[in-house]
Amino acid sequence: MSDVLTLAQEETQLHKVAVNEMAGPCPKCFGTDRFRVRYSREAGTWSFMCRSCWDAGQYLPEKGRKRGWGDAIDYVRHYRGMTFQEAKALVDGHEGETSHSRRPQPPSLTPEWQSATHKAMQAHQSRLWSHDTLALEYARRRGLYDHIIKQFQLGYSIHHGIPSLVIPNINAGRYVTVYRRDLRPDVPKGQRWKDAPGGTKDELYLADCLWLRKDLPVVVCEDALSALSIYQECGDLVNVVATGGAECGMLTRWIARLACAPVVLISLDADAAGDRYAAEWLMRLKNARRLRPLLKDANDMLMGSWDLREWVLNALDSVGADLV
Ligand SMILES: [Zn+2]
Repeated sequence: MSDVLTLAQEETQLHKVAVNEMAGPCPKCFGTDRFRVRYSREAGTWSFMCRSCWDAGQYLPEKGRKRGWGDAIDYVRHYRGMTFQEAKALVDGHEGETSHSRRPQPPSLTPEWQSATHKAMQAHQSRLWSHDTLALEYARRRGLYDHIIKQFQLGYSIHHGIPSLVIPNINAGRYVTVYRRDLRPDVPKGQRWKDAPGGTKDELYLADCLWLRKDLPVVVCEDALSALSIYQECGDLVNVVATGGAECGMLTRWIARLACAPVVLISLDADAAGDRYAAEWLMRLKNARRLRPLLKDANDMLMGSWDLREWVLNALDSVGADLV
């Protein structure tokens, strides 16, 4: 038998908020102020609630009551998209007996990967700030200030003898991707950036800002360094996220979230792939406009001493007039 607490702990980090109640980021909508699981002593079971993505007030005629807090079967149907039969089989511990077995869980969601990644990132951060300044110098050459390098927990890894700058993508308190830039001088262009194994391509970099500062315009970049460049120069004016690749990040949940922003500036790279996928974002988001970088990307602009703040402000000005 699986209970709600065990299921939720596979997907999010919970902390105790009352004797019988735990809270943490919602595994579906990622909000940090709305997801709870609680234990009922009378029923002897755990149940869950998300004030945003779980409609507790919906009336269920077959049960003659409102939906209320969800049980374990509700949980896997809601959070893992299972049918009732699949959910029941999983919760009862007979998942192998159904024709469609449980949706495979990305490795990034396992507690093992989380703790291994956390441990590795601690070591990578210490190395970055050690006497061996290869990665730190590289990050500085890319135009980043030390406080940004520190705040976003950049690190320096050496894996099979290959030195890399590593940038963790941490959403709703869990690691989802670790971007790695190979720092060997002779590494060919197409092989410089590789994600560390085990992460997912489905998450936007810095996505938490979309929930924490809902009223700000959003800039969508392609890579983490461009996102950090924009955050550094005008993070007080806009939210910024990165897709992790021209073709990445176009999932319904991100589109739904971005559709709520006042304005979305699509700043994918100024190249053929960036233009092509930018056009797709524009088709899906009425509030989006293309903000084509004046060099290849926003980080190149920062390194070339362009005024990113001015550039973004100008774009917001003209978009404002356009959207009214
Ligand atoms: Zn939710």
